Amino acid sequence: MNYGKLPKCDLPVHLEGAAPPNFIRQLANEKKINLTGLFDSKGDYFFKNFKDFLNVYDQACKVLNGPEEFYRLVVAALKSSAQHGVIYTEFFVSPDFCGGGDLVAWREYLAAMEAAASYCEANMAVYCRFILTPIRHLGADRACVIADIAQKTIGGRLTGFGMGGDETFLTPKDFSYAFDMAREAGYRLTNHAGEIVGASSVLDSLKYLKVERIGHGVRAIEDLDVVQRLVEENITLEVNPGSNIFLGIYEDLKSHPIQRLRDLGVQVTVSTDDPPFFKTDMTKEYSNLANVFNWTSKTFFLLNTDAVKAAFCDDKTKEILNSILEREYV
Ligand SMILES: [Zn+2]
Repeated sequence: MNYGKLPKCDLPVHLEGAAPPNFIRQLANEKKINLTGLFDSKGDYFFKNFKDFLNVYDQACKVLNGPEEFYRLVVAALKSSAQHGVIYTEFFVSPDFCGGGDLVAWREYLAAMEAAASYCEANMAVYCRFILTPIRHLGADRACVIADIAQKTIGGRLTGFGMGGDETFLTPKDFSYAFDMAREAGYRLTNHAGEIVGASSVLDSLKYLKVERIGHGVRAIEDLDVVQRLVEENITLEVNPGSNIFLGIYEDLKSHPIQRLRDLGVQVTVSTDDPPFFKTDMTKEYSNLANVFNWTSKTFFLLNTDAVKAAFCDDKTKEILNSILEREYV
């Protein structure tokens, strides 16, 4: 099977984490910013451990300091996804990275990212939506500031609200007010949980944040009551096998719970999280899943139709995506 060619939904991905290394190098050259030590001899991002990864990530983000850069980033990221058959993606975007949490600046960044998404939709037939992201380790008050920005800028392709960042910082309950604000504004909700912290963090995200999707969530498998609740409430887990293995959450794909979760009836998506940082892409994810779990073209078709169901986009876009899936998978 040619896994690269299969149409795929990659939801969601951290926008800055999807920046191709070549693109970051190009921007650094233009701006005369020295990024020595950031790349290995092959030109990929280079880091030794998780702390180092965060540092490399921050350094790479330094060249992304204006709306124009984010326009180019969206185009570069979607172009690289499209090369792996991606037809739909959702990007986590943060007002903290785009204008330092200033509403006026954020509007300019958002307009640039919207324009880039329109360009890619028209020229590459790849669709995307944005998920506005409060960064958990910046605290609950900051999350409310971000939720206020969210209320004022909802619309267009900005349809989701989802927290990322350090899962060990505070508890989901501490962020319930920010999530209430986003829900009232009409956002679709997701939260990172059950990656670093166990099944209780998944349960707390459902209880206090009332999300319809969980970022990662794989450690729900440690408590079958939580798994049952995911099934009963139709919650989708955004699963990133390559990222989990790269960061050592699981030793290898064989011991990863994605297959067990599906067998238990949990809806999952397969996504790449921060693809070039974790040395992955959608083609690799699919071929690894096929090799280890014998996933067939039928499995991938169902995986993608589930992703479309859970996508934070309108019905018309879902119809377009489903018609591509039905046409391309036989
Ligand atoms: Zn993530």
